[in-house]
Amino acid sequence: MPVTRQTVSETLAGIAERRPVLQPILSAFEPFLEARASLPDLLSPILEQSGFSLPPWRQEKARQGVPLLAGVSLDGLFPLLEQSAQVLLPHLTALPGMTGHSEALHAFFSDEKTCMKASDMLLTGHEESLADIATETGLAPAVLLFALEAVFGPVIHALASEYKAPWDERPSSWMQGFCPVCGSYPSIAYLDRRVFDEKNAFLAGGGGKKHLHCSLCGTEWHFRRGACPSCGQEGSGVMEFLRESENSQGERIDWCTKCRSYCPTVDLRERGDIPDMDAMALGMMYMDIVAARKGLMPLKPSFWNQF
Ligand SMILES: [Zn+2]
Ligand SMILES: [Zn+2]
Repeated sequence: MPVTRQTVSETLAGIAERRPVLQPILSAFEPFLEARASLPDLLSPILEQSGFSLPPWRQEKARQGVPLLAGVSLDGLFPLLEQSAQVLLPHLTALPGMTGHSEALHAFFSDEKTCMKASDMLLTGHEESLADIATETGLAPAVLLFALEAVFGPVIHALASEYKAPWDERPSSWMQGFCPVCGSYPSIAYLDRRVFDEKNAFLAGGGGKKHLHCSLCGTEWHFRRGACPSCGQEGSGVMEFLRESENSQGERIDWCTKCRSYCPTVDLRERGDIPDMDAMALGMMYMDIVAARKGLMPLKPSFWNQF
């Protein structure tokens, strides 16, 4: 029987049960994460009406490491961003560190020109220009970046669900450590469970294959286990992992001995359930602290792992 993924709430409850000290922060983020998880379904019909056309997936471009949305005009997507902001801003501005920014954020997300320009910059990685927009808008760059990623991510997720995940086919033409759709780095990775072939009831695979989960749009893709998603080096001794001996359900940190970047990882073979990955990334913040003490850098800086 296929195992379905847990909801945000189920995942957070499971984490809080084992790590009660995290309860206040998990509770603070829960309504925001739940609202964010519900958005792609809500946005799909708006996408259909938007007239925005998706570029086709091209194996050739994928082999060159060019993400799907690179160079694509975002014209027509503003109604989706508007809807996403309307749903998320009340939760977002209730988060610790975000209160007091409500007015400026509402103004930012109702200004089509600025908001679409910033979204474009987010995809092209022009964080300096984003900082300029933040200053003009009267927001701290970190606040604007967090809000924009929160609001724009579900929009890209809705776009990505229109494809039949060609990036996860085997053998895959996508070999990169960044997202095949939007080009962002993963916030979390997982090693998959054993796979059973339902047709003949034989074990089809022992599991343990690595998948990366995009921090921005939630797209997931297969990645080589012995390779570093950041610097691309590969081979024995490149990747190591760190874990806590007690109270763990497959949570660990995979880090690169060459460039010292790390990504939180869950080994699903050690768990009875499959967590919501965005909730799990938040719930593994205690591992971020362990990594920071070791002098490691997060592959994808999050609101909560910049110490
Ligand atoms: Zn992505
Ligand atoms: Zn590396």
